[in-house]
Amino acid sequence: MTRRIKFKSEVGRLLEIVIHSLYKHREIFLRELISNSVDALNKLKFKELQGEDIVDKDLEHRIDIKVNQSENTIEVVDTGIGMTEDEIIENLGTIAHSGTRKFLELLEKKDNVKEELIGQFGVGFYSVFMVAEKVEVISKSFRKDAPAVKWASEGKERFTVDILEGNYKRGTSVKIYLKEDAKEFLSESRIEAIIDRYSRFVPYPIYLNGRKLKQVKPLWLENPRDLKKEDYEEFYKYLTKSELKPLNYLHIYSDAPVDLKSIIYIPPFSLVKFGLEDDTGIRLYNRRVLIAEKTEELVPDYLRFLKGVVDSEDIQLNISRETIQNDPVVLKLKKTITSRFIKHLKDLLKKDRANYSLFFDEFGVYLKEGIVKDYPEKQDLAELLLFEYTDGEDKITLSEYLEKTDYKDSIFYIVGEDRKTIEKSPYLEQFYKKGVPVLILTQVLDETVLEHIGKFKDAEFKLITREDVSLENKKEEDKSIEESDRRFLEKVKEVLKDRIHDAIVSTRLVKSPYCLVSQKNAPSSQMERMMNALNKFYVPSKKILEFNTSHPVYKNLKDFVLNSEDEKLKETLLNSIVDTAELTEGFLSDIPHAVERYNELIERLVELEKK
Ligand code: ADP
Repeated sequence: MTRRIKFKSEVGRLLEIVIHSLYKHREIFLRELISNSVDALNKLKFKELQGEDIVDKDLEHRIDIKVNQSENTIEVVDTGIGMTEDEIIENLGTIAHSGTRKFLELLEKKDNVKEELIGQFGVGFYSVFMVAEKVEVISKSFRKDAPAVKWASEGKERFTVDILEGNYKRGTSVKIYLKEDAKEFLSESRIEAIIDRYSRFVPYPIYLNGRKLKQVKPLWLENPRDLKKEDYEEFYKYLTKSELKPLNYLHIYSDAPVDLKSIIYIPPFSLVKFGLEDDTGIRLYNRRVLIAEKTEELVPDYLRFLKGVVDSEDIQLNISRETIQNDPVVLKLKKTITSRFIKHLKDLLKKDRANYSLFFDEFGVYLKEGIVKDYPEKQDLAELLLFEYTDGEDKITLSEYLEKTDYKDSIFYIVGEDRKTIEKSPYLEQFYKKGVPVLILTQVLDETVLEHIGKFKDAEFKLITREDVSLENKKEEDKSIEESDRRFLEKVKEVLKDRIHDAIVSTRLVKSPYCLVSQKNAPSSQMERMMNALNKFYVPSKKILEFNTSHPVYKNLKDFVLNSEDEKLKETLLNSIVDTAELTEGFLSDIPHAVERYNELIERLVELEKK
């Protein structure tokens, strides 16, 4: 008896899209079907290894493609796990595959998404309707006593399901009746080219009209010495179902202390940037049998952008999602992969700086995450960071920084919004004068990263906008303060007591007349502003106002403050100085009052001119 069943509405929507808008990518239907067959064979192999009872035990594990010119059909047949009636209704009537679901979401925001990303998701079984006017699936489950079942549909609202009598062998056959405009796929050479392109690494033999096609052994099991860069790139494309090349890769091939054959890829860019989750992760195999598809447990969380395969004979076949995390073999694999990968990055940094820089620009933020979350390999990660600095255009590592400075116990840094503003900052004057490099941090996160590193090779990180950080010896300078300076500073403190913590003579300024510095243990102004943005009750700490006593502005200002009787003007002028010092740092805390003060000063100036 034939059952007529309606597709779930989401499938209907998908079919619409597949049939109408994916014309350019039509050939991928074959990749999707072969990939389903591989999955089915993997699942079967898995059952076998677990000792389950299986029908047609001696059937060869294989995939057959049959092209029939006179019938206008293509058939993809496998001897995999098969489906029962219930399974076929569930699997081919709803959207099972999370990638397909994402694909739907992706198409909705298509405008801001790159075309080539589409290939990364795959549309699964339903992609056959790009080329088919009708599809018939015949499947027989590996389970004893399950009858064969036939599913058929024209990709419209419904599909039909029939139980079949008679003799069928285990596995699934998908028969496609080609549309009028899809006859190109009746060409054997065309089909062979598509298989070669997308399914070359499939771990089961593929036959085309009875002829066995040439295939490549799973790459990770081959000796790295026998492989070329192109081989790795091809495999990456196969793995990610895309046309993109990886940024870099690492092939681990070892038997001890744990059996591990693995290829780890750094993708060309981070998908997360496009607001998308990444579907390909790291696949776990035991001797080519797929154990888990996207195995997050094989690398620490901060390396989640990596893709590739991991194969180990030591892994249990029946490991479950729940136990995988604490499995001793998995933990051992994770440790080895992590340390090998970090070592690989260190080598890359040394040997191919251009490639490393590309990596760092794209994924450096993940390494920083590893540091901030205090992973045990944090000090190794610190060696992999690149920073902008005052003396050069290129970025440098912390070790390179230490090679460039005479102050081996300090790594000086400054935080700001953009490099151009920072470069003109008065805080840097003494460093320029003495030729001491300073790291330029333009991301607030970087400051936290340095805090978490703590110390790097005995050197301490020093924020140069803090009161206690200076290249000069403060005590000597103290002596040169005159009585009039002392009185001036007292007056400044009195007038500005609500805005500043202290007023002192500077040892850091060379060209600028004054600046604000942070108190000893205070975070940078940028950090404080961020904290204030996150929590409006956070009160930024008061700054210290420093004066350059050898600057002409200072002398005039001092004379005026000590000798004039116009208290109102003194207050405006000194407050304006704090405003200007804030601006030098890149942020004005109270714009309306600052503007009032400037206007008042302009008015006074104009009056003066008139007199
Ligand atoms: P998926 O990405 O999960 O394969 P598909 O839409 O391609 O999504 O297929 C849906 C489901 O149908 C699969 O997850 C699988 O359970 C089942 N299926 C598809 N093709 C086969 C096959 N050749 N053999 C057994 N089951 C299959």
